[in-house]
Amino acid sequence: MSAADPNCVFCKIVEGKIPSRKVHEDDEILAFHDIHPWASVHFLMVPKQHIASLAQVGPEHEPLLGRMMALAPRLALQEGCRPYPQGGWRVVINTGDDGGQEVHHLHIHVFGGPRPWLKG
Ligand code: 5GP
Ligand code: ZN
Repeated sequence: MSAADPNCVFCKIVEGKIPSRKVHEDDEILAFHDIHPWASVHFLMVPKQHIASLAQVGPEHEPLLGRMMALAPRLALQEGCRPYPQGGWRVVINTGDDGGQEVHHLHIHVFGGPRPWLKG
């Protein structure tokens, strides 16, 4: 596992140095509520190892990314999203400056709740 980055806010959350409202924890993945939610359900899923962004992901990370994606629906339902297809949620990975990434530790946003997104 990559060493924690001492300047990384999500590494500090993984290490418990910054408190968070946890949604899920296992040996590889932590999920916690976003501090500034954009929707009635909004949590983040992070690998415990420091990976700066989706741009740094390589073949060695495929099992981890697969686990994160497969876990997202379970946690979305656990956190109150309504089931597919009437309900649902959004999964977003902001990557790099042009992608709107502010925290440079790979994270998956999961947004949900009743119609949190206005189209158009
Ligand atoms: P990004 O723009 O990098 O995709 O999103 C980073 C997200 O992390 C933002 O939605 C922001 O509210 C959230 N965030 C930043 N710092 C903290 C923190 O200390 N605790 C929690 N729970 N969320 C944070
Ligand atoms: Zn980190």
